[in-house]
Amino acid sequence: MNHNIENKIDLLSQTLANLTVMVKELGEPAFRTKQIYSWLHEKQITSISEMTNLSKSLRDKLEASCYIPSCEVVARQTSAADDTNKFLLELDDGNCIETVWMEYKHGVSLCVSTQVGCRQGCKFCASTLGGLVRNLTAGEILNQVYTAQRVMGMRVASIVLMGIGEPLDNLDNVLDFFTILSSQEGQRMSLRHVSLSTCGIVPAIEALMEKDLGVTLSISLHASDNNTRSGIMPINDKYDIHELMTVCKKYFAHTGRRISYEYALIEGVNDTEEDAESLARLLKGQMCHVNLIPVNPVKERDTKRSSRKNVQEFVGRLIKRGVNATIRRELGTDIDAACGQLRRNHSNTETNEQAADQ
Ligand code: SAH
Repeated sequence: MNHNIENKIDLLSQTLANLTVMVKELGEPAFRTKQIYSWLHEKQITSISEMTNLSKSLRDKLEASCYIPSCEVVARQTSAADDTNKFLLELDDGNCIETVWMEYKHGVSLCVSTQVGCRQGCKFCASTLGGLVRNLTAGEILNQVYTAQRVMGMRVASIVLMGIGEPLDNLDNVLDFFTILSSQEGQRMSLRHVSLSTCGIVPAIEALMEKDLGVTLSISLHASDNNTRSGIMPINDKYDIHELMTVCKKYFAHTGRRISYEYALIEGVNDTEEDAESLARLLKGQMCHVNLIPVNPVKERDTKRSSRKNVQEFVGRLIKRGVNATIRRELGTDIDAACGQLRRNHSNTETNEQAADQ
């Protein structure tokens, strides 16, 4: 835990525009901005003392007023089956988040967290069990990418915002993250290689659409009728399926990016023949893709996964009705795969240890 950051500015969260203002305020020449920014986001160093082309006095000035957030690997699980790596990362304030490194034929995809906890309360999800603790800063989201790359010695090809948290409940920081991630003086990642997954916060989807960033939108749908969806996803009471479909069609029309729908099959909840038919009717004619996944059972929840056979029949039915659907390749099922499980198990262990100490 870093106690030495009170009242200091988090350097990693500053866009190039913000950093330009900061450097000016420090009374430094403008060319210093790009030097500092390149150390942070191109070379991805972890301490101000590594910025060796800055004068000693500037480094001292930066040390006095700024800091680079830390992101310490406190646990790492590697799947024996498929090389998936799940990292538990500790932030400056002692909170932990998860990041998952997934290797595919087309390259590495990194799944990053956007909040500590989540306030959305989806019934099958481990991330939301303790509620929302706080938003991550742009720098803390970037740091997951930089840290994973440093540990693995490789660059990631794509990023999915599908870890802990609801990215659209933290839109301002997520937008700064996109700005920095795609900047030419940094990681230079095209936002076409980035997917944002949301439970369906309609006005924020519109706001994202207006930005024209080319980000792929992934919608956690999980049910095709309001009754079932409201039963497992409280957000549906605020923005129902009809409103959600309307904004998704608008997003596609505006951006040309095909929507991806996530559907976790839960035994006896959303996995019947009729559910498949109803989903096909809902999505008929939409340019989209459905990702099916048997739900990952979470200890504290009583959700059961559908059988493999059932999942296959479900996908078969969708395809027969002309809906583009695949069963998502499950990675890392032998490690704490479900969203938020590693963090949860870690904090439970800590609580148990504290109890044992007393
Ligand atoms: N809040 C965002 C992103 C984080 S969740 C969202 O709702 O999309 C990432 C994805 O994992 C979502 O599709 C979510 O519904 C799904 N998910 C969460 N818990 C799961 C579980 N136990 N099994 C399968 N998928 C799960």
